[in-house]
Amino acid sequence: MIEMQEVYKKYPNGVSAINGIDVRIEQGEFVYVVGPSGAGKSTFIKMMYREEVPTTGNILVNGVNLAKLKLKKVPIYRRNLGVVFQDFKLLPKLTVYENVAFALEVIEAQPKFIKKRVMEVLDLVGLKHKARMLPTELSGGEQQRVSIARSIVNSPKVVIADEPTGNLDPDTSWEIMNIFEEINNRGTTIVMATHNKEIVNTIQHRVIAIEGGKIVRDESKGEYGYEN
Ligand code: ADP
Ligand code: ADP
Repeated sequence: MIEMQEVYKKYPNGVSAINGIDVRIEQGEFVYVVGPSGAGKSTFIKMMYREEVPTTGNILVNGVNLAKLKLKKVPIYRRNLGVVFQDFKLLPKLTVYENVAFALEVIEAQPKFIKKRVMEVLDLVGLKHKARMLPTELSGGEQQRVSIARSIVNSPKVVIADEPTGNLDPDTSWEIMNIFEEINNRGTTIVMATHNKEIVNTIQHRVIAIEGGKIVRDESKGEYGYEN
């Protein structure tokens, strides 16, 4: 469960990016975060994976108060969370397998378990046969699938995605969305910032619209609501 209570975020340069957000997201929900550029979507999302800290207010994710989380505890917190970015952020010198295994190696999981789990998630994203390839040998859609595999390898309860289809063509974007649907169907909460009107209006889920750092609309099975 994710809860924000009276959250405000002002950056050091004086910009108030989030201006009073109260919201609750239950385990297993799929939530789209929409709104114009500069509305505060990325800041909202970054606070959920503790990349940014609120200036005031509380953010609770599965019982952890991120507003009070000590810096040295951030890596432990992130282990229980999946994060997917628009630009994939894969490690370029590691193979597909190694990129996905990394998160399990840092927690010193059993080698046998690592191998089984990595191949299981690569199978889920349809890339088992490319385990030995490097990210540069893959198409953009394939790289995003690797990054999704990496995000779920630790079996997190929550996956946060910031414009995961932003760099992909329409067909590839639908394929990526099908994988997120599958992950959500298995019980994982998904919070996704997106500008993809067609996807939001077709694969309907809860829509939270942010403008000027505030929630201006929050609908279960909502529409995208902007021209683009
Ligand atoms: P969105 O993701 O909806 O485009 P952002 O959260 O990126 O919105 O930005 C919200 C506001 O905060 C914008 O005015 C943006 O310029 C500002 N902003 C974002 N990141 C920073 C930062 N690191 N430092 C200062 N201002 C920032
Ligand atoms: P898409 O049209 O989906 O963006 P690409 O045309 O980039 O895909 O690639 C098609 C296939 O060729 C993919 O399966 C990809 O893994 C493979 N491929 C692309 N570039 C290379 C490369 N430099 N070395 C090996 N395989 C590659």
